[in-house]
Amino acid sequence: MNKQEIIQSLNQYVDQIVEQHKREQFSRYVKSKKVKFEECSLILEPRDYLIYGKTKSRWNQKIFFRTYKHRMQIEMRCSCPDWTHNIKKKQVPCKHIFALIERYQSKRTHINNTIKGE
Ligand SMILES: [Zn+2]
Repeated sequence: MNKQEIIQSLNQYVDQIVEQHKREQFSRYVKSKKVKFEECSLILEPRDYLIYGKTKSRWNQKIFFRTYKHRMQIEMRCSCPDWTHNIKKKQVPCKHIFALIERYQSKRTHINNTIKGE
């Protein structure tokens, strides 16, 4: 996969997460506006992680590629207790993941342009 393909998969994934969960998880989504990050990074290579975040409250978030049945798929994870609780039922994003996704989406145009210019 090249960078453009990676960013395409990533964009589809995050848009779908927001679409799917925004309504049902609205209160969490609103609370995500108050999440402050200490660190955020983006790596466009299919290894380790794509987006990494560390909140001021010291939780770590990761959005990453995982090979599942010979196919690459994107997954997300947060180290907060809320996430650990939710993941047992289904992949429901915590407010930190929502915040990280929003942060990424807000910089998306810039990122896309940067890649095209490479
Ligand atoms: Zn979390």
